[in-house]
Amino acid sequence: MDNKLRKTTKIPLPNKGEPYLLTPGPLSTSFETKEKMLVDLGSWDQDFKKITSKILDKLIGILLQTSNDNSYFQSDPYLAVPMQGSGTFSVEAMLGSFVPKNGKALVLSNGSYGLRCYEILKYFGRAVDIIDMGDYLPPDPFLLDKKLKQDKSITHVVVIHCETSSGILNPLEAIANVVEKNQRSLLIDSVSSFGAIPIDAGKIKFDALVSSANKCIEGVPGFGFVIAKQSVLESSKNQSHSLSLDLYSQWNYMNKTGQWRFTPPTHSISAFLSALMQHEKEGGVMGRLGRYEKNKDTLVSAMDFIGFETMLSKRWLSPIIVSFLYPDDDNFNFNEFYDFMKKDGFIIYPGKLTSTDTFRIGCIGQLDSYVMKKVVRSIESSLKIMRVKSASPKKEILEERKKLDELNY
Ligand SMILES: *Cc1c(COP(=O)(O)O)cnc(C)c1O
Repeated sequence: MDNKLRKTTKIPLPNKGEPYLLTPGPLSTSFETKEKMLVDLGSWDQDFKKITSKILDKLIGILLQTSNDNSYFQSDPYLAVPMQGSGTFSVEAMLGSFVPKNGKALVLSNGSYGLRCYEILKYFGRAVDIIDMGDYLPPDPFLLDKKLKQDKSITHVVVIHCETSSGILNPLEAIANVVEKNQRSLLIDSVSSFGAIPIDAGKIKFDALVSSANKCIEGVPGFGFVIAKQSVLESSKNQSHSLSLDLYSQWNYMNKTGQWRFTPPTHSISAFLSALMQHEKEGGVMGRLGRYEKNKDTLVSAMDFIGFETMLSKRWLSPIIVSFLYPDDDNFNFNEFYDFMKKDGFIIYPGKLTSTDTFRIGCIGQLDSYVMKKVVRSIESSLKIMRVKSASPKKEILEERKKLDELNY
């Protein structure tokens, strides 16, 4: 890492030779967080049990921070239950534990994480339907309302808060209002948004949400967690299709023993407690959101300046991750581009869309606007080496985007 950056960046740099991860999990974590993993802990030990219980309290604290009126759930509080594995394990645990065997889920999809929820529910044989908006557009509350009125057998609606495959921030409150009016239950995949994008539990009525350690709380991978209403947890006994992903059993066992039901990722968990304390120190959800927003704004305006276009129209961009369209130039080659950026110390993320060629730059993790400026400089010089003259994408793609956008809203 060069010395100029050492002087200008405000957050501590990664270890020597360690690249910045511009990927939305695993992401760049602080030295303080990583350091906690140098200690081996016994999972049955009192000290470790205390760590787990502190974490669960702090997770609820994060939800309450941005929930202005908590009167509606005071008698039925939200509780946090952790689950070993990557974020998908927790998503699967939530869907399998809370959509009853005789229930029916409706998945609102606009990208690969939405499709994944649909696949999960199909996989363990729950009745499931989908409204698929493709890659560019948010779920439509009007269509949802129509569907819920048409199909009375739907018990649960599943929505992705920030669809990380494109970076689109979905209109959670508008969706939740429709679900509430139709008296159905809402399950939220907020894996990539929890901790940085406020969720007001006083306004947004939901049964459960899910997230994981290595996203906006900036922990290392190893486990996820579900935040659910107590009544929802209580009534989920024997509902799961899976032994190890049964949230009720995990919760019940933890209540009785203070322990995780099966071997927990102890190092990742103690690192997470440190990450949570740093989250607090930064000003909680709003503090973190402020830094990520600045990262996104810095990135998007500098990319705009050198001719790139975002895949989504500006109003749907999230401060989590941004997708950019490939330049319309035969000299552009993603693999070469990736390698040039890696040489500069930046790991970027390939696109995850079926229809359009994109690459993604994450805004979350131990990054600030100084780092983002440096990222764009590296992008610019990589294009030069590849002899890419213009970063502008194919005109047709932009026209298509515009048409879709106008069509919908
Ligand atoms: C990261 C993420 C997940 C979980 O992905 P894993 O690779 O299993 O950690 C789920 N949903 C969304 C929206 C995500 O961003």
